[in-house]
Amino acid sequence: MGITVLPEEVVARIAAGEAVERPASAVKELIENAIDAGASSIHVESAAGGRQLIRVSDNGAGIPALEIELAFKRHATSKLRAAEDLQDLSTLGFRGEALASIAAVSQTTIITRHRGDPMGMSLRMNGGQIRHQRPVGAPAGTVVTVENLFFNTPARLKFLKADRTEKRNIQGVVTRYAMAYPHIAFTLKQDEREQFRSSGRGDLADVVAAVFGRAHFKRMIAVESAGPARIGQTTIALRGYTSLPDLTRRDRSRIVLYVNGRAIQENALSHAVTGAYEGMIKSGTFPFAVLLLSLPTDFVDVNVHPTKAQVRFREPGQVFSTVQRAVRQALLEADLDEADADRWRTFGFTNETVDYPPPAPPFAGTATEDAFHDADLPHIPETADAPAKPRTLPILRVVGQIGAIYIVAEGPAGLYLIDQNAAHEHVLYQQMREEQRASSLLAEPVIDSQTVLLSPEHDAVLGAWADVLSQLGFEIETFGPHTYVFRALPKVIASSRLADLFPAMLEYLSRKGTRKDNGTEEAIAALAAVAAVKSGQILSMEEMQTLVAQLERCPSPFTSPSGNTTLIRLTREQLALEFRRA
Ligand code: ADP
Ligand code: MG
Repeated sequence: MGITVLPEEVVARIAAGEAVERPASAVKELIENAIDAGASSIHVESAAGGRQLIRVSDNGAGIPALEIELAFKRHATSKLRAAEDLQDLSTLGFRGEALASIAAVSQTTIITRHRGDPMGMSLRMNGGQIRHQRPVGAPAGTVVTVENLFFNTPARLKFLKADRTEKRNIQGVVTRYAMAYPHIAFTLKQDEREQFRSSGRGDLADVVAAVFGRAHFKRMIAVESAGPARIGQTTIALRGYTSLPDLTRRDRSRIVLYVNGRAIQENALSHAVTGAYEGMIKSGTFPFAVLLLSLPTDFVDVNVHPTKAQVRFREPGQVFSTVQRAVRQALLEADLDEADADRWRTFGFTNETVDYPPPAPPFAGTATEDAFHDADLPHIPETADAPAKPRTLPILRVVGQIGAIYIVAEGPAGLYLIDQNAAHEHVLYQQMREEQRASSLLAEPVIDSQTVLLSPEHDAVLGAWADVLSQLGFEIETFGPHTYVFRALPKVIASSRLADLFPAMLEYLSRKGTRKDNGTEEAIAALAAVAAVKSGQILSMEEMQTLVAQLERCPSPFTSPSGNTTLIRLTREQLALEFRRA
């Protein structure tokens, strides 16, 4: 539609106020105009923090020659006709005020050529007055040059910050739009130096990396609402990146939020993001996040504040919890994928600000429990005192066991479910690896030697692994055809029924395929797999506590050597959301 001046009653409905408070706000308005004009490339230039010069050039639709004067009138816009349109805005601009406001407080020159026009137009204004207007040859698109901003409003000039602060604010505006519009190529030149460039290739990751730097971006993870989240009839789509808890800042300035392509300052929403990190980062620190929300235009009211930096949602609570859940989900998944214990350790769990609940009081064991412990079943021996190893998990309070498969525990961030078999396998593996590295693998002599008969296949596997097994503490002698007697065993299986366990271990090794050069790791993994407590085995409270305490100090406590998940965590947040859903 063409540019027209809005009728009085529409003007009265628009959030009034001054949109151009500082150079960065002029840059913002000009960029929004370029985006609304469908530009695929936008160049921004500034000099002296924008007070000397701001120039925004675009390759968008341009302004028809006949409408150019009108564009500088207050409340003249091509984006809105009637008050009803305010409910359903798809453009960034709608007030028809920016060009007029900027031109009133500067010396502004516009050169524009509408795609349909043979010639371009140049219009020069001074403090809102037209100086001259003439046809010029120009490429399709628009270049707005704003010189000496606030030259005629000394009061506002006085309120400007140091050049470098204004310069940084301009960078903030340009990079924010670049992230929201990865399909548009942005460049920013300040005081003749290129400061920023985005490719316009449409890849959000690319732009976020360009804005925050590669090193920071490496510590960010993708956030995506698992399919569009539903609020009644409405769907919210969310995508973006958020930092792992080891990348934080002392202020919220790196939490960048968009609603329908508009960068917004919405404290409640940035609280929702920060809230997703509860228990993971120190209080007073904030994550890095770039999150883009899209929701139906009638679901958001942008007509709240003159700078359009604030919005009102129709269902604020729902929007916030959607955002928080998506961020939390991304973080939790990152936890479980993360094999690097160092990184986990920084996930707030060595964080002084978190108050760990005291460890559970020693459990008064019952006589009946002991009855379940057949001597043949692997069991978890008490360890004297906690080894001086760094903690990789918080102190967990064992609550109980379910299905004789999982241990339920409570930790600072919520509920933990531990697969007893996978966890014990992991603990044993780590323990033996450490002993083996320190050449102190514990072996025990077998007092009443047992003989074990092997299948020919298993016998062959034993042949291939005999040297490694002897390093691990097995002393095996041939007793007869395929029959062996054990003189000594690694401590972890010393009390087990070898007739079952040893073939199972050889079976594990044969599934591994051909042995790698030294094979110690595989052999230890096999030993751990067969020596670990089984699913279905009832454990005493003390055994569970011992196991959990050991797991708390294992590097990479999340997966067992055979690749099974040892531990899942349900945060308080998730639990609350689950229960509120009803
Ligand atoms: P608004 O963006 O709210 O409509 P502005 O004062 O920013 O108000 O712009 C007035 C009008 O001038 C716009 O509605 C649009 O038609 C036109 N205009 C401004 N900048 C551009 C541009 N870069 N490219 C094409 N048209 C523009
Ligand atoms: Mg505008």
